[in-house]
Amino acid sequence: MNQATFHFYGALNDFFPDSQKDAPLSCSFNSDQSVKHLIEAMGVPHTEVGCVLVNDSPVDFSYRVNDSERVEIYPLAGEEGVGESPGTTRFVVDNHLGRLAYFLRMLGFDALYRNDYQDDELAQTAEQEGRLLLTRDRRLLMRNQVQRGYWVRSLSPRQQILEVLRRYNLKAQITPFRRCIRCNGILQPVSKEAVLDRLEPLTRLYFDDFRICPDCQQVYWKGSHYERMRQFIDQWLT
Ligand SMILES: [Zn+2]
Repeated sequence: MNQATFHFYGALNDFFPDSQKDAPLSCSFNSDQSVKHLIEAMGVPHTEVGCVLVNDSPVDFSYRVNDSERVEIYPLAGEEGVGESPGTTRFVVDNHLGRLAYFLRMLGFDALYRNDYQDDELAQTAEQEGRLLLTRDRRLLMRNQVQRGYWVRSLSPRQQILEVLRRYNLKAQITPFRRCIRCNGILQPVSKEAVLDRLEPLTRLYFDDFRICPDCQQVYWKGSHYERMRQFIDQWLT
């Protein structure tokens, strides 16, 4: 049996109980194990890892760890390759994170979500469509198929959206009133006349700027809902 020392840094400590945080951890293993396999066996998905050093030299995930080596694992700091204009950062969101998907859409981000996704579908969609997978299931992120994703730490949806905005540096891309909160469709301008029969009397009276979702036909205007959204953005994101 071989033994190596693993030291996880920064946000990677979120995966460990307090007693193991920021400390060198001893790992016993049979020979011919990849560093990716050993890191994940200790509970950290590869999608969270930025770089790995073995005895001070960078290695890739396929590196085979030898006896007595010293492995240092650093978190991914900001994600590379995430576009800077709205619509270029795309997500697929795990079943259990419906409120997070709602908030992402509210802020204008492309967030696929269904409450009946199977794990295979989530991983496949992430891979095939180049989407970032957001989940609280760290096992899902350990699949080789999943190249990019994030283990959402908080249980609170408001904290979750802050985590995701921070992780992917998305604040500059926030575009409210752009995407359908119900189905993720992109809203289109629509004349007041075209939707008049669907509006409540007060909405007819006070609002003139309307948008519609071409996919589910939901009508949006900058009413109380929009104001709540603005308050949320002002309160939580600035
Ligand atoms: Zn819609």
